[in-house]
Amino acid sequence: ASRKNGTSRYVSSFSFDQIGGQDRAKQEIIEALDFIMKPDAISKLGIRPLKGILLAGPPGTGKTLLAKAAAHYTDSVYLAASGSEFVEMYVGVGASRIRDLFKEARQKAKKAGKGSAVIFIDEIDVIGGKRDGGQQREYDQTLNQLLTEMDGIHGSDTPRILLIAATNRKDSLDPALLRPGRFDRHITVDLPDKKGRLHILNLHAANKPLDTSVNLERIASESFGFSGAQLESVMNEAAIYAMREQSAVIGEHHLAMAIDKVMMGEKTDREST
Ligand code: ATP
Repeated sequence: ASRKNGTSRYVSSFSFDQIGGQDRAKQEIIEALDFIMKPDAISKLGIRPLKGILLAGPPGTGKTLLAKAAAHYTDSVYLAASGSEFVEMYVGVGASRIRDLFKEARQKAKKAGKGSAVIFIDEIDVIGGKRDGGQQREYDQTLNQLLTEMDGIHGSDTPRILLIAATNRKDSLDPALLRPGRFDRHITVDLPDKKGRLHILNLHAANKPLDTSVNLERIASESFGFSGAQLESVMNEAAIYAMREQSAVIGEHHLAMAIDKVMMGEKTDREST
């Protein structure tokens, strides 16, 4: 999947143009990145550096894509991890993985001759959930390590580190992560509106032969509530239906079936959980 999005392990060639809709989220993140890229001006004014950006919103809306595009935009190396990778049976393993991730980011940036590294942590709520009172959890140490690493980020560092984290459950995050000086910038990444859906459909239709009768605007209207990931799936499923019928082009009815399938899939997923 990462190759499809134009990302090798450490360098992202994925740009903001390849993300459909999400105009506000894109604008907000670009603003924050422009700001980060002026460390001299920032320090002259005595502004504290931005260490982390939190992307919050439902699954499949493009949070990972935004992080990759942020790495590309700032000419940074890109490292990604998921919160669940840090949950381990043995105390301290998660914390040392966090330490290694930041160390690796600095090393990879140096090796690639880049001035900065973007570290993306998906499902941050898994390690950054609220700590309940006296109850010690194994991964408290992991969260503490993450906070320590964030406190160790300085605007004048070379290479510069920017942490981008994503969550579907912002309410459940520990206040320590949301405090000033940690994830200072919170960006909401919502389900796309009709215009956004049309943009996403167009992006994913770009490499597909559509029948001239296909009206993507109508598909955008009919796919109310779909995420970007679901819209990608609609285009892909439609192409599979076309292939089954040995049709050289994707027609309206293939898309209609694909919409039903993606909708049904969602239903079965929900029923089985
Ligand atoms: P999760 O919360 O589940 O990690 P996410 O918000 O990080 O989801 P992505 O991984 O960025 O979602 O998106 C999954 C896939 O869905 C992408 O690889 C892409 O194919 C498609 N997609 C999602 N959002 C968009 C978008 N705004 N524009 C284009 N494609 C999108």
